[in-house]
Amino acid sequence: MAPCLFIVIPCYNEEAVLPVTAPMFLNKLKTLIDEEKISGSSRILFVNDGSKDSTWDIIRSLARQDEHFIGISQSRNRGHQNAVLAGLMEAKDHCDITISIDCDGQDDINAMDEMIEQYKAGYEIVYGVRSKRDTDTFFKRFTAESYYKLLNKMGVEAVYNHADYRLISARVLQEFADFHEVNLFLRGMIPLVGFPSTSVYYERHERLAGESHYPLTKMLTLAFDGITSLSIKPIRIITGFGVIVTILSFIGIFWAVIRAITGKTISGWASLMCIVCFLGGTVLLALGIIGEYVGKTYIETKARPRYIISERTYDKDQPDDNSR
Ligand code: UDP
Ligand code: MG
Repeated sequence: MAPCLFIVIPCYNEEAVLPVTAPMFLNKLKTLIDEEKISGSSRILFVNDGSKDSTWDIIRSLARQDEHFIGISQSRNRGHQNAVLAGLMEAKDHCDITISIDCDGQDDINAMDEMIEQYKAGYEIVYGVRSKRDTDTFFKRFTAESYYKLLNKMGVEAVYNHADYRLISARVLQEFADFHEVNLFLRGMIPLVGFPSTSVYYERHERLAGESHYPLTKMLTLAFDGITSLSIKPIRIITGFGVIVTILSFIGIFWAVIRAITGKTISGWASLMCIVCFLGGTVLLALGIIGEYVGKTYIETKARPRYIISERTYDKDQPDDNSR
């Protein structure tokens, strides 16, 4: 039997692009249904991430126009990762497979066919991987590539050039629901669930309309969170560094005592300053990194909800009834 697919689409202030891309998604879904690749009960699930513009109104009117469109709204803006999670957790009880994709048309929707084929071939997770980064600036390409290398060095298993365009089966999502962490970095967490996985390749385009919500500062935050949420290697590196500095210090002390005993002590202002500055800087940096982990632990212990759904375009227990 054809699997039921839910396409999960996070939307934050997307009134400019949603009217352009929504019909494209619907077309794709209907074609897949006509080709009997997915079942007729498949849906496009928009997640309004606390938008301040008319995004939620657009989603509601889409839901009224076609039963394949459904939507949920978060009580406030929580960020892309939380919005995707809210959608996936909502979808997992109603479908067999989910595909998460951004709403700006950057990711090629035609890659969905192959994702579904791979699912039918036995893969529970199918990562959408960008085949090239021509549309990116040199700076973005360079930083992104260095970042993936750094992630891997830190022991985080992230698929190279994969963002959040991926197919996940409901079965995997049921297991993923037991990952309760508040600091989310989905592309690094999903591989931890296990199950057979593979990749499909696609070309990423320019945004069709509107503006990116990921300025450099937000990108850096996500990048930093990605490492500290999934790896404690930075703390190990600090420990390793501390060991080396301690050994050097002992050699230094030994040397200083010998110099003092043999009466050869001279005014070593420069060398002293260098050591003080160096140690001062590195100790502060190390404290900062450790503090980052302490802070994350603090936030995790509160175990606050990761998303709060305030509205739905349908009855929670009957997603097929779209009459609301
Ligand atoms: N998004 C979201 N919440 C946010 C920021 C972004 O749900 O706080 C959504 C946004 O609507 C889009 C996706 O996340 O569907 C990716 O955002 P964007 O295209 O701005 O990022 P970029 O592709 O430039 O990295
Ligand atoms: Mg985008």
